[in-house]
Amino acid sequence: MKFSIIVETFEKMENTTKRLELTQYLVDLFKNTPSDLISKVVYLIQGKLRPDFDGVELGVAEKLAIRAISKSAGIPIKKIEEVYNKGGDLGHAASKILEQKTQTTFVKEPITTERVYETLYKIAELEGLRSQDMKMKYIASLLNDATPLEARFILKILLGTLRLGIADNTVMDALAIAYTGSKENREPLETAYNVSSDLGKVAEAIATKGLDGTKKFEISVFNPIRPMLADRVKSEQEALEKIGNEFAAEYKLDGERVQIHLKGEKVVLFSRRLENITSYYPDIVEKTPKILKARDAILEAEAVAINDDTGEFLPFQELMHRRRKYNVEKAVERYPITINFFDALYLDGKSCLDMPYSQRRKTLEDIVTEDNFARLVPMTTVKTESEIEEFLENSINAGCEGLMLKVLNAPYRAGMRGSNWLKLKREYRNELGDSLDLVVIGAFFGRGRRTGRYGTLLLATYNDNEDVFPSICKVGTGFTDENLDQFYQLLSDKVTLKKNPRVDSEMEPDVWFEPELVIEIVASEITLSPIHKAAKDIIRKGSGLALRFPKFTGKIRFEKAPEDASTDQEVVSLYKGQKKIKQEIGQA
Ligand code: AMP
Repeated sequence: MKFSIIVETFEKMENTTKRLELTQYLVDLFKNTPSDLISKVVYLIQGKLRPDFDGVELGVAEKLAIRAISKSAGIPIKKIEEVYNKGGDLGHAASKILEQKTQTTFVKEPITTERVYETLYKIAELEGLRSQDMKMKYIASLLNDATPLEARFILKILLGTLRLGIADNTVMDALAIAYTGSKENREPLETAYNVSSDLGKVAEAIATKGLDGTKKFEISVFNPIRPMLADRVKSEQEALEKIGNEFAAEYKLDGERVQIHLKGEKVVLFSRRLENITSYYPDIVEKTPKILKARDAILEAEAVAINDDTGEFLPFQELMHRRRKYNVEKAVERYPITINFFDALYLDGKSCLDMPYSQRRKTLEDIVTEDNFARLVPMTTVKTESEIEEFLENSINAGCEGLMLKVLNAPYRAGMRGSNWLKLKREYRNELGDSLDLVVIGAFFGRGRRTGRYGTLLLATYNDNEDVFPSICKVGTGFTDENLDQFYQLLSDKVTLKKNPRVDSEMEPDVWFEPELVIEIVASEITLSPIHKAAKDIIRKGSGLALRFPKFTGKIRFEKAPEDASTDQEVVSLYKGQKKIKQEIGQA
């Protein structure tokens, strides 16, 4: 299959935001795709080579891509950087450069989708010494034979910046239309996707075996299930209105969601985003077979950092110490965790998804042997506002975020957000007594509804002593759809190739910005942070300060220069003020 068919579709898709049009372009593309290639085409549409849980990552850095363009086009690196800096997108820059070049060369054999996919796969698999050079050679060889349009999209896929603005649902609509004639038939595809988390596999099933093929999908251990999600409620009263009568209330722990897969002695762990996170938690891997009275199982739990001396839950940030490639054993020792089970999805050869919550909870109680490390999430059944309130208080006092409220007779709806689960967090209040004006220094691309825009911004204070912008938090709440569009527009032309030397941060956002835009933030608390750099070493050696539960107020402080942002000193005095209040009310 010619790769040009794919990139022509991508180009059309980039030029529209209308869902109907996007769907139709995909339908046309699927109809032109041979069924043995459909899974690969679906992954490429998602900007991937395999589903996330397989861990096949392209991970090509801009620098390397620039070298490859330079090699292929015979143009100096500096020149490429110039074109890139003007446009802000390396894919576009490459296509511009190659356009000039193609005018002088002969027409070549068209490149095929198979070749592009296989080459990208080889690049992803390369490791170790000399791998950079090999990667560059592979990229340059593709670019040599690619048209400018093909080059543009090859680079976007390589760099992970392909954004077609389509959600998984749109892909499933298009598959249903292309292979059954109607999107009314989407449901079996969705069910298949929810238990397999692999859109390519679902596409292949419908393309080769029709709807029946998708209906045969079963849960399989080591293949993650898409997690069930909760709706938010603001008050006990709203929860009662939504789910009435009697329901379960569980502590909402502030850790990392872990989907634990066990078969015999083998354990594999997946994150909420279904990435394989087994290597970060050797303690869970080691202990799970002993904790569970089960042959094979898929369970959900929250991993939470604890203070080893007091047994208290620690905030989520502490867990980030576990996210490392090397010296994991040391981190396991220094940052102990507990694993808190809250759901059973599969047990000894049988799916539990259709069981009511109460039965799944009972199953958990039967198979988990509790000890200091493994626990069941605290749960009670509640009927009234005051019962919820009391349990909420207990949960907050235990260091949790709030409650999860669950309908007792509801099944586990994989991949769905709905009112069978509600989250009730401690209300967002501006407990610092003041808002902060912070500088946007980086961003992470959004997912789902936020695809194609920045979903989370990385923010900094101003350190006026050293004239730098140290990071203080990431913020992803408080944004309206309009805000998201506005941020995308305002920030796109502030993207920088590298981290600005005045920015002080250890984070790795998807994009860095010139530190220019200032926005207003409220938060519930300031905490010590091993990661963020604001006010580093001032309160405690080796720690900075971070905002807990930051939220955008809706105000962009256009009138402020970055040097007018809240300073480290201001944050320190807010931190001290907060500590004093806590002492007064006996919480410190
Ligand atoms: P949120 O991330 O605010 O949408 O809240 C959902 C997250 O809360 C889940 O992904 C879990 O990581 C976490 N969580 C903590 N405690 C529970 C619980 N008892 N039941 C379900 N999820 C929980």
